[in-house]
Amino acid sequence: MAKIRRVADDEAGAKLGIVVNNEDTLKNIRVVLTRPSHPGNIGAAARAMKTMGLDDLALVQPRAFPHPEADTRARGGLDIVRAAHLYDSLEDALADCAYAIATSARHREMRHETMDVRTAAHAALATARSQRVAIVFGNESTGLTAEEAQLCRLWAHIPADDGYSSLNLASAVQVCAYELRMAMLAPASAEAEAPQLASVAQVAQLHRQLVALMSRVGYHDPQRPRQLLPRMRRLFARAQLEVDEVNILRGFLKALDRER
Ligand code: SAH
Repeated sequence: MAKIRRVADDEAGAKLGIVVNNEDTLKNIRVVLTRPSHPGNIGAAARAMKTMGLDDLALVQPRAFPHPEADTRARGGLDIVRAAHLYDSLEDALADCAYAIATSARHREMRHETMDVRTAAHAALATARSQRVAIVFGNESTGLTAEEAQLCRLWAHIPADDGYSSLNLASAVQVCAYELRMAMLAPASAEAEAPQLASVAQVAQLHRQLVALMSRVGYHDPQRPRQLLPRMRRLFARAQLEVDEVNILRGFLKALDRER
């Protein structure tokens, strides 16, 4: 029944030029677990994803994986555990994504654009119609490092009780996956098609090119790093650069370099 309704929505939306979400939109959302300590949490996260229609799981330096505990806790989500991709760094895990959303229990300390996961889920879905978006989770005891967080454009929190706001990792994945599913099932909005955003890898190239030029002209001293590089990274993450904009900036930097 639900399927039939979605098809009808799709057709009505198409006539009005409105974009609608469907199950495929969720396939463009990657769940990234950064340095998970407990293999059981990997399995439980996969199960949480499976129940909500997500299937792209990335693991950055898991302490123990593959592991029987991950398989056991996954139950019906075992295929997601088996298909999980392993990465050496968060930057690698995000390379082909338009942007990433960091999740954290400690929202008061954040200096990024912060929102609750419900709002973040709608933002993610709008982009995921045409591009991949990642939602990033931290280590069970330490969360995400500042460096990891700088790779993300948005920060999302589950507004839990102030007295104790830190959910179990897999529980946090479940809540986020549920919100993404609800955002997918929400009636079509009349939003315009999202612009083609540059991938995390393309923005990283721009960042490297800028830093190289800053060093060559003496503005940045690699021996005395200051806060310059993280600030630039945060600026780029926030700016939500489009592919064309990255190309313009890179072309300009190249021209400046030649001019010297
Ligand atoms: N002591 C850690 C808690 C880590 S819990 C800290 O303070 O950061 C493991 C992960 O689950 C977190 O890194 C985050 O990704 C997710 N998580 C836990 N509680 C959350 C909440 N209230 N909102 C959003 N994400 C949460």
